[in-house]
Amino acid sequence: MVDLKGQYNDIKDIVNPSIQEVIENTAFINGPKVHEFQKNLETYLGVKHVIPCANGTDALQIAMMGLGLKPGDEVITVDFTFAATVEVIALLQLTPVLVDVNEDDFNINIEALKKAITPNTKAIVPVHLFGQCANMEAIMHIAKAHNLYVIEDNAQAIGANYTYSNGTKVKAGTIGDVGATSFFPSKNLGCYGDGGAIFTNNDELAHTIRGIVNHGMYERYHHDVVGVNSRLDSIQAAVLDAKLPKLDSYNKSRQNAARKYNQAFKNIKQIITPKVSNGCGDICDTCDCHVFHQYTLKLKGVDRDALVKHLNDKGIPCGVYYPIPLHKQKAYQDSRYNEKDFAVTNQLVKDVISLPMHTELEDEQIEFITSAIIKFING
Ligand SMILES: *Cc1c(COP(=O)(O)O)cnc(C)c1O
Repeated sequence: MVDLKGQYNDIKDIVNPSIQEVIENTAFINGPKVHEFQKNLETYLGVKHVIPCANGTDALQIAMMGLGLKPGDEVITVDFTFAATVEVIALLQLTPVLVDVNEDDFNINIEALKKAITPNTKAIVPVHLFGQCANMEAIMHIAKAHNLYVIEDNAQAIGANYTYSNGTKVKAGTIGDVGATSFFPSKNLGCYGDGGAIFTNNDELAHTIRGIVNHGMYERYHHDVVGVNSRLDSIQAAVLDAKLPKLDSYNKSRQNAARKYNQAFKNIKQIITPKVSNGCGDICDTCDCHVFHQYTLKLKGVDRDALVKHLNDKGIPCGVYYPIPLHKQKAYQDSRYNEKDFAVTNQLVKDVISLPMHTELEDEQIEFITSAIIKFING
Protein backbone atom coordinates (compact mmCIF):
# COMPACT_ATOMS: atom_id res chain seq x y z
CA MET A 1 0.00 0.00 0.00
CA VAL A 2 2.90 2.33 0.70
CA ASP A 3 6.54 2.39 -0.42
CA LEU A 4 8.45 3.78 2.52
CA LYS A 5 11.72 2.28 1.35
CA GLY A 6 11.62 3.98 -2.03
CA GLN A 7 10.85 7.30 -0.37
CA TYR A 8 13.66 6.83 2.16
CA ASN A 9 16.22 6.04 -0.54
CA ASP A 10 15.32 9.30 -2.21
CA ILE A 11 15.84 11.45 0.93
CA LYS A 12 18.56 9.41 2.67
CA ASP A 13 21.13 12.17 2.19
CA ILE A 14 18.95 14.66 4.07
CA VAL A 15 17.47 12.39 6.72
CA ASN A 16 20.59 10.48 7.78
CA PRO A 17 22.70 13.51 8.80
CA SER A 18 19.67 14.99 10.55
CA ILE A 19 19.26 11.83 12.67
CA GLN A 20 23.02 11.61 13.18
CA GLU A 21 23.08 15.15 14.54
CA VAL A 22 20.54 14.23 17.24
CA ILE A 23 22.60 11.21 18.26
CA GLU A 24 25.86 13.17 18.35
CA ASN A 25 24.21 15.86 20.48
CA THR A 26 22.48 13.23 22.67
CA ALA A 27 19.53 15.61 22.92
CA PHE A 28 17.03 12.77 22.64
CA ILE A 29 14.15 14.31 24.59
CA ASN A 30 12.93 17.85 23.88
CA GLY A 31 16.11 18.57 21.93
CA PRO A 32 16.50 21.56 19.60
CA LYS A 33 15.21 19.52 16.62
CA VAL A 34 11.79 19.26 18.23
CA HIS A 35 11.58 23.03 18.57
CA GLU A 36 12.87 23.60 15.03
CA PHE A 37 10.30 21.24 13.59
CA GLN A 38 7.56 22.82 15.68
CA LYS A 39 8.43 26.30 14.34
CA ASN A 40 8.70 25.09 10.76
CA LEU A 41 5.35 23.31 10.95
CA GLU A 42 3.72 26.41 12.46
CA THR A 43 4.97 28.43 9.49
CA TYR A 44 3.91 25.80 6.95
CA LEU A 45 0.40 25.53 8.38
CA GLY A 46 -0.01 29.21 9.15
CA VAL A 47 -1.05 28.37 12.69
CA LYS A 48 0.08 30.10 15.89
CA HIS A 49 0.87 27.01 17.93
CA VAL A 50 2.02 23.49 17.16
CA ILE A 51 2.45 21.24 20.19
CA PRO A 52 4.29 18.05 19.22
CA CYS A 53 3.32 14.85 21.04
CA ALA A 54 3.83 11.10 20.91
CA ASN A 55 1.18 9.99 18.40
CA GLY A 56 -2.09 11.00 16.76
CA THR A 57 -4.27 9.22 19.29
CA ASP A 58 -2.61 11.14 22.13
CA ALA A 59 -3.03 14.34 20.13
CA LEU A 60 -6.80 13.84 20.06
CA GLN A 61 -6.95 12.88 23.73
CA ILE A 62 -4.81 15.82 24.85
CA ALA A 63 -6.86 18.22 22.72
CA MET A 64 -10.00 17.06 24.56
CA MET A 65 -8.27 17.30 27.96
CA GLY A 66 -7.07 20.80 27.08
CA LEU A 67 -10.60 21.95 26.34
CA GLY A 68 -11.65 20.79 29.80
CA LEU A 69 -14.31 18.34 28.59
CA LYS A 70 -15.88 16.47 31.51
CA PRO A 71 -17.31 12.96 31.95
CA GLY A 72 -20.81 12.85 30.50
CA ASP A 73 -20.19 15.61 27.95
CA GLU A 74 -21.39 14.45 24.56
CA VAL A 75 -18.92 14.54 21.70
CA ILE A 76 -20.21 14.04 18.18
CA THR A 77 -18.05 12.23 15.64
CA VAL A 78 -18.43 9.90 12.69
CA ASP A 79 -19.30 6.22 12.46
CA PHE A 80 -16.87 5.78 9.55
CA THR A 81 -13.32 6.46 10.77
CA PHE A 82 -10.35 4.81 12.42
CA ALA A 83 -11.27 3.76 15.97
CA ALA A 84 -8.75 6.12 17.61
CA THR A 85 -11.18 9.01 17.15
CA VAL A 86 -13.93 7.46 19.27
CA GLU A 87 -11.53 5.58 21.55
CA VAL A 88 -10.17 8.70 23.23
CA ILE A 89 -13.66 10.12 23.71
CA ALA A 90 -14.69 6.95 25.54
CA LEU A 91 -11.40 6.74 27.43
CA LEU A 92 -11.96 10.20 28.92
CA GLN A 93 -15.46 9.05 29.96
CA LEU A 94 -17.02 11.53 27.60
CA THR A 95 -20.04 10.22 25.71
CA PRO A 96 -19.35 9.46 22.05
CA VAL A 97 -22.26 10.22 19.73
CA LEU A 98 -21.66 8.61 16.35
CA VAL A 99 -23.29 10.00 13.23
CA ASP A 100 -23.46 8.99 9.58
CA VAL A 101 -21.27 10.30 6.76
CA ASN A 102 -21.83 11.51 3.21
CA GLU A 103 -22.04 8.95 0.46
CA ASP A 104 -19.80 10.90 -1.89
CA ASP A 105 -16.90 12.26 0.20
CA PHE A 106 -17.08 9.95 3.25
CA ASN A 107 -17.05 12.93 5.65
CA ILE A 108 -19.49 13.92 8.39
CA ASN A 109 -23.04 14.45 7.22
CA ILE A 110 -24.19 17.91 8.24
CA GLU A 111 -27.87 17.02 8.64
CA ALA A 112 -26.97 14.03 10.84
CA LEU A 113 -24.68 16.26 12.88
CA LYS A 114 -27.45 18.82 13.46
CA LYS A 115 -29.89 16.10 14.49
CA ALA A 116 -27.45 14.68 17.06
CA ILE A 117 -27.02 17.91 19.03
CA THR A 118 -28.55 17.87 22.53
CA PRO A 119 -28.17 20.20 25.54
CA ASN A 120 -25.28 17.94 26.67
CA THR A 121 -23.30 18.25 23.44
CA LYS A 122 -19.96 19.97 24.05
CA ALA A 123 -17.82 19.21 21.00
CA ILE A 124 -17.74 18.02 17.41
CA VAL A 125 -14.84 15.98 16.03
CA PRO A 126 -14.88 16.14 12.24
CA VAL A 127 -12.47 13.63 10.69
CA HIS A 128 -10.89 14.78 7.42
CA LEU A 129 -11.10 11.29 6.00
CA PHE A 130 -8.78 9.98 3.29
CA GLY A 131 -7.23 13.41 2.68
CA GLN A 132 -9.96 16.02 2.33
CA CYS A 133 -11.68 18.28 4.80
CA ALA A 134 -15.19 17.84 6.08
CA ASN A 135 -17.56 20.74 5.37
CA MET A 136 -15.83 23.01 7.89
CA GLU A 137 -17.76 26.13 6.94
CA ALA A 138 -21.05 24.48 7.93
CA ILE A 139 -19.50 22.82 10.97
CA MET A 140 -18.04 26.06 12.34
CA HIS A 141 -21.38 27.76 11.79
CA ILE A 142 -23.23 25.05 13.74
CA ALA A 143 -20.57 25.06 16.47
CA LYS A 144 -20.91 28.80 16.91
CA ALA A 145 -24.70 28.66 17.06
CA HIS A 146 -24.64 25.92 19.73
CA ASN A 147 -21.50 27.00 21.57
CA LEU A 148 -19.58 23.80 20.79
CA TYR A 149 -15.87 23.13 20.48
CA VAL A 150 -14.50 21.80 17.20
CA ILE A 151 -11.60 19.35 17.30
CA GLU A 152 -10.35 18.44 13.83
CA ASP A 153 -9.00 14.92 13.41
CA ASN A 154 -6.45 15.79 10.76
CA ALA A 155 -4.45 12.55 10.84
CA GLN A 156 -5.22 11.91 7.17
CA ALA A 157 -5.20 15.37 5.60
CA ILE A 158 -2.02 17.21 6.57
CA GLY A 159 -1.14 19.74 3.88
CA ALA A 160 -4.65 19.80 2.41
CA ASN A 161 -6.30 23.17 1.88
CA TYR A 162 -9.81 24.05 2.85
CA THR A 163 -11.43 26.65 0.59
CA TYR A 164 -14.21 28.78 2.06
CA SER A 165 -17.06 29.89 -0.17
CA ASN A 166 -15.47 33.37 -0.35
CA GLY A 167 -12.30 31.81 -1.80
CA THR A 168 -10.11 32.09 1.34
CA LYS A 169 -7.86 29.06 1.79
CA VAL A 170 -6.62 27.65 5.08
CA LYS A 171 -4.75 24.49 5.98
CA ALA A 172 -6.68 21.49 7.25
CA GLY A 173 -6.43 21.19 11.02
CA THR A 174 -6.16 24.94 11.68
CA ILE A 175 -9.84 25.84 11.40
CA GLY A 176 -11.47 24.51 14.57
CA ASP A 177 -10.54 25.33 18.18
CA VAL A 178 -7.87 22.68 17.94
CA GLY A 179 -6.53 20.20 15.39
CA ALA A 180 -4.79 16.86 15.92
CA THR A 181 -2.54 14.97 13.56
CA SER A 182 -0.48 11.80 13.36
CA PHE A 183 3.00 11.24 11.95
CA PHE A 184 2.59 7.45 11.79
CA PRO A 185 4.98 6.21 9.07
CA SER A 186 2.29 5.70 6.42
CA LYS A 187 0.59 9.08 6.92
CA ASN A 188 1.19 11.86 4.37
CA LEU A 189 3.88 13.30 6.63
CA GLY A 190 5.24 10.23 8.37
CA CYS A 191 8.20 9.73 10.68
CA TYR A 192 10.16 6.53 11.37
CA GLY A 193 8.19 5.50 14.43
CA ASP A 194 5.29 7.15 16.24
CA GLY A 195 4.63 10.87 16.38
CA GLY A 196 1.81 13.38 16.52
CA ALA A 197 0.96 17.04 17.02
CA ILE A 198 -1.77 19.38 18.19
CA PHE A 199 -2.49 22.72 16.46
CA THR A 200 -4.28 25.77 17.77
CA ASN A 201 -4.49 29.53 17.28
CA ASN A 202 -5.64 29.99 20.90
CA ASP A 203 -2.75 31.16 23.13
CA GLU A 204 -4.40 30.12 26.38
CA LEU A 205 -5.32 26.66 25.10
CA ALA A 206 -1.80 26.18 23.71
CA HIS A 207 -0.36 27.00 27.14
CA THR A 208 -2.72 24.55 28.85
CA ILE A 209 -1.86 21.81 26.35
CA ARG A 210 1.90 22.35 26.66
CA GLY A 211 1.52 21.59 30.35
CA ILE A 212 -0.73 18.56 29.82
CA VAL A 213 1.75 16.83 27.48
CA ASN A 214 4.38 17.21 30.20
CA HIS A 215 2.74 15.70 33.32
CA GLY A 216 0.63 18.79 33.96
CA MET A 217 3.74 20.84 34.77
CA TYR A 218 3.90 24.56 34.04
CA GLU A 219 6.79 25.05 36.41
CA ARG A 220 9.30 22.28 37.09
CA TYR A 221 7.90 19.81 39.67
CA HIS A 222 4.72 21.81 40.14
CA HIS A 223 1.84 19.69 38.84
CA ASP A 224 -1.16 21.96 38.39
CA VAL A 225 -3.36 19.59 36.40
CA VAL A 226 -3.42 15.85 35.71
CA GLY A 227 -1.38 15.44 32.57
CA VAL A 228 0.24 12.73 30.51
CA ASN A 229 3.70 11.96 29.20
CA SER A 230 3.43 12.48 25.47
CA ARG A 231 6.48 13.71 23.61
CA LEU A 232 7.74 13.67 20.06
CA ASP A 233 11.25 12.32 20.41
CA SER A 234 14.09 14.28 18.85
CA ILE A 235 15.00 11.60 16.31
CA GLN A 236 11.46 11.59 14.95
CA ALA A 237 11.49 15.41 14.89
CA ALA A 238 14.72 15.25 12.85
CA VAL A 239 13.06 12.95 10.31
CA LEU A 240 9.96 15.12 10.13
CA ASP A 241 11.92 18.36 9.80
CA ALA A 242 13.86 16.85 6.90
CA LYS A 243 10.64 15.68 5.23
CA LEU A 244 8.43 18.74 5.84
CA PRO A 245 9.87 20.76 2.90
CA LYS A 246 8.86 17.82 0.67
CA LEU A 247 5.28 17.53 1.93
CA ASP A 248 3.74 19.59 -0.87
CA SER A 249 5.57 17.65 -3.56
CA TYR A 250 4.62 14.38 -1.83
CA ASN A 251 0.99 15.42 -1.85
CA LYS A 252 1.31 16.40 -5.54
CA SER A 253 2.61 12.91 -6.32
CA ARG A 254 -0.42 11.44 -4.59
CA GLN A 255 -2.74 13.74 -6.54
CA ASN A 256 -1.05 12.74 -9.80
CA ALA A 257 -1.53 9.08 -9.01
CA ALA A 258 -5.20 9.73 -8.12
CA ARG A 259 -5.70 11.55 -11.43
CA LYS A 260 -4.30 8.57 -13.34
CA TYR A 261 -6.46 6.11 -11.43
CA ASN A 262 -9.53 8.29 -12.13
CA GLN A 263 -8.70 8.43 -15.82
CA ALA A 264 -8.33 4.65 -16.06
CA PHE A 265 -11.68 4.00 -14.34
CA LYS A 266 -13.56 6.78 -16.09
CA ASN A 267 -15.75 4.51 -18.20
CA ILE A 268 -16.21 1.65 -15.77
CA LYS A 269 -19.75 1.93 -14.44
CA GLN A 270 -19.17 -0.53 -11.59
CA ILE A 271 -16.55 1.82 -10.12
CA ILE A 272 -17.22 5.15 -8.46
CA THR A 273 -14.02 7.16 -8.14
CA PRO A 274 -13.47 9.47 -5.15
CA LYS A 275 -15.20 12.82 -5.20
CA VAL A 276 -13.37 16.03 -4.37
CA SER A 277 -16.04 18.02 -2.58
CA ASN A 278 -14.28 21.30 -1.77
CA GLY A 279 -12.62 24.02 -3.87
CA CYS A 280 -13.23 23.65 -7.60
CA GLY A 281 -14.41 20.09 -7.02
CA ASP A 282 -11.53 18.55 -8.94
CA ILE A 283 -7.93 17.47 -8.33
CA CYS A 284 -6.33 20.75 -9.25
CA ASP A 285 -3.05 22.50 -8.50
CA THR A 286 -4.56 25.66 -7.11
CA CYS A 287 -7.13 24.07 -4.78
CA ASP A 288 -5.08 21.27 -3.23
CA CYS A 289 -8.29 20.30 -1.45
CA HIS A 290 -7.58 16.58 -1.47
CA VAL A 291 -4.21 15.07 -0.56
CA PHE A 292 -5.26 11.43 -1.02
CA HIS A 293 -4.08 9.76 2.14
CA GLN A 294 -6.13 6.93 0.67
CA TYR A 295 -7.46 6.45 -2.84
CA THR A 296 -10.81 4.82 -2.12
CA LEU A 297 -13.24 3.47 -4.69
CA LYS A 298 -16.84 2.42 -4.25
CA LEU A 299 -17.73 -0.79 -6.04
CA LYS A 300 -21.23 -1.35 -7.41
CA GLY A 301 -22.28 -4.92 -8.17
CA VAL A 302 -18.73 -6.28 -7.85
CA ASP A 303 -17.78 -9.17 -5.55
CA ARG A 304 -15.28 -7.29 -3.38
CA ASP A 305 -13.83 -10.34 -1.64
CA ALA A 306 -13.18 -11.98 -5.00
CA LEU A 307 -11.58 -8.79 -6.33
CA VAL A 308 -9.33 -8.52 -3.26
CA LYS A 309 -8.26 -12.13 -3.78
CA HIS A 310 -7.66 -11.55 -7.49
CA LEU A 311 -5.45 -8.53 -6.72
CA ASN A 312 -3.56 -10.28 -3.96
CA ASP A 313 -2.89 -13.23 -6.28
CA LYS A 314 -1.26 -10.77 -8.66
CA GLY A 315 0.81 -9.29 -5.83
CA ILE A 316 -1.23 -6.07 -5.71
CA PRO A 317 -1.97 -4.90 -2.18
CA CYS A 318 -5.30 -3.28 -1.38
CA GLY A 319 -7.19 -2.40 1.79
CA VAL A 320 -10.69 -2.01 3.13
CA TYR A 321 -10.92 1.15 5.21
CA TYR A 322 -13.08 0.56 7.15
CA PRO A 323 -14.76 -2.86 7.19
CA ILE A 324 -17.00 -2.40 10.28
CA PRO A 325 -18.96 0.70 11.35
CA LEU A 326 -17.87 1.93 14.77
CA HIS A 327 -21.43 1.72 16.16
CA LYS A 328 -21.27 -2.04 15.54
CA GLN A 329 -17.94 -2.51 17.32
CA LYS A 330 -18.32 -4.26 20.67
CA ALA A 331 -16.53 -1.46 22.50
CA TYR A 332 -18.76 1.29 21.10
CA GLN A 333 -22.22 -0.27 20.78
CA ASP A 334 -24.97 1.74 22.44
CA SER A 335 -28.70 1.04 22.75
CA ARG A 336 -29.45 4.64 21.73
CA TYR A 337 -28.28 3.95 18.20
CA ASN A 338 -30.78 3.20 15.49
CA GLU A 339 -29.62 1.26 12.41
CA LYS A 340 -31.52 3.48 10.03
CA ASP A 341 -29.40 6.44 11.11
CA PHE A 342 -26.29 4.71 9.72
CA ALA A 343 -27.56 3.74 6.28
CA VAL A 344 -24.58 5.27 4.44
CA THR A 345 -21.84 3.84 6.66
CA ASN A 346 -23.54 0.44 6.67
CA GLN A 347 -23.38 0.45 2.86
CA LEU A 348 -19.88 1.96 2.55
CA VAL A 349 -18.28 -0.76 4.66
CA LYS A 350 -19.49 -3.22 2.01
CA ASP A 351 -18.54 -1.20 -1.07
CA VAL A 352 -15.21 0.51 -0.42
CA ILE A 353 -11.76 -0.60 -1.48
CA SER A 354 -8.55 1.42 -1.23
CA LEU A 355 -5.76 1.02 -3.78
CA PRO A 356 -2.02 1.46 -3.30
CA MET A 357 -1.33 5.18 -2.78
CA HIS A 358 2.06 6.68 -2.03
CA THR A 359 4.67 9.10 -3.29
CA GLU A 360 6.64 6.58 -5.33
CA LEU A 361 3.85 5.10 -7.50
CA GLU A 362 4.97 4.78 -11.10
CA ASP A 363 2.84 4.92 -14.22
CA GLU A 364 3.53 1.27 -15.04
CA GLN A 365 2.39 0.24 -11.56
CA ILE A 366 -0.82 2.23 -11.89
CA GLU A 367 -1.37 0.70 -15.31
CA PHE A 368 -0.79 -2.80 -13.89
CA ILE A 369 -3.18 -2.22 -10.99
CA THR A 370 -5.97 -0.59 -13.00
CA SER A 371 -5.87 -3.13 -15.82
CA ALA A 372 -6.02 -6.00 -13.31
CA ILE A 373 -9.14 -4.44 -11.77
CA ILE A 374 -10.82 -3.64 -15.07
CA LYS A 375 -10.09 -7.12 -16.41
CA PHE A 376 -11.64 -8.66 -13.30
CA ILE A 377 -14.77 -6.51 -13.61
CA ASN A 378 -15.19 -7.13 -17.33
CA GLY A 379 -14.76 -10.84 -16.65
C1 LIG B 1 -3.90 7.33 12.11
C2 LIG B 1 -5.12 7.94 12.65
C3 LIG B 1 -5.24 8.29 14.02
C4 LIG B 1 -4.25 7.88 15.07
O1 LIG B 1 -2.95 8.18 14.87
P1 LIG B 1 -1.78 7.35 15.62
O2 LIG B 1 -0.57 8.18 15.41
O3 LIG B 1 -1.70 6.02 14.97
O4 LIG B 1 -2.16 7.26 17.06
C5 LIG B 1 -6.37 8.96 14.43
N1 LIG B 1 -7.36 9.26 13.57
C6 LIG B 1 -7.31 8.90 12.27
C7 LIG B 1 -8.45 9.26 11.38
C8 LIG B 1 -6.19 8.23 11.77
O5 LIG B 1 -6.15 7.89 10.47
